[in-house]
Amino acid sequence: MRINVLCLPVVSMLLAAGSVSAQDHVSAQGLLEGEGFPVNYEAVEFGMTHVAGRVHMLTGAGGNIGVFVGDDGVFLVDGQFAPLTERIMAEVAQLSDDPIRFLINTHFHGDHTGSNANFARAGARIVAHDNTRRTLSQPHFIEMRQTLFRAFGPNALPSITFKTSMSLNLGGERIDVIYAPPSHTDGDSVIFFRDSDVIHMGDIYRSRGQPVFDRNNGGSFEGLIRASDFVLNLMGEDTLIVPGHGQISTRADLVEVRNIMATVRDRIQAAVDAGQSEAEVIASNPSRGLPWRDGGPLSIEETVRWIHAELADQSP
Ligand SMILES: [Zn+2]
Repeated sequence: MRINVLCLPVVSMLLAAGSVSAQDHVSAQGLLEGEGFPVNYEAVEFGMTHVAGRVHMLTGAGGNIGVFVGDDGVFLVDGQFAPLTERIMAEVAQLSDDPIRFLINTHFHGDHTGSNANFARAGARIVAHDNTRRTLSQPHFIEMRQTLFRAFGPNALPSITFKTSMSLNLGGERIDVIYAPPSHTDGDSVIFFRDSDVIHMGDIYRSRGQPVFDRNNGGSFEGLIRASDFVLNLMGEDTLIVPGHGQISTRADLVEVRNIMATVRDRIQAAVDAGQSEAEVIASNPSRGLPWRDGGPLSIEETVRWIHAELADQSP
């Protein structure tokens, strides 16, 4: 197993580059959150799209950012990587001169939380589920990236956390932040902008390719199906979805992705029940005919290997 830990001189160099400060991270070992992703920051291009009502989606590198502009301030869902913060702020400033009052982390992964310290320094309060704060407050290993990340320091940690759900009423909009069943991680939140009728699902939902679950941080494949059903029960017929990665989606898109996962699950479960080995299951290509393609942190083969392990483990 290869563990990707940058040597200290390189970390010092990155700190000197100015995107994060040493006080923002407390543990000596591991990468700073947001590093270890193959991103050429110079080449990143941003795109702002109006979703509905007072909600926009900002794409750059990393997770899609939800931008809510109320009468008295801006509310962001996820913040991508630290080196992009200034450019993200400039994009948001084109919609509103008001301050960014809140930043919600849908979960702890660095392509969603890397700029926490920068936004906090600029005055935003950071909100997340209790489990996301817990994971960020200690060194955390992400198996699918074979990478150990450092603990966040107090400046970069969520300062407002919740257990089940919380609501904000901002500028005439009711915003519900709701803990979803453990699925992508054990700390996933969905953010429902009730008046604009938009829901940001974080990485519970990706509109393209195979789903991603962080199995050594509480995620599971069955959990992704359960969480999809949870959101389908929550949303309306016309609610629009901002995915963690991919395109603005509809209820029908989520149903399709959910059913594709269920088909793969049923195929692998049948193979497990028939006593097939992992190699036999992989050879049978359980995602055949379905629109999964390599390109995420795990290959399709590795994803199938993880699903097989999960289902075989649950079988009597
Ligand atoms: Zn993620």
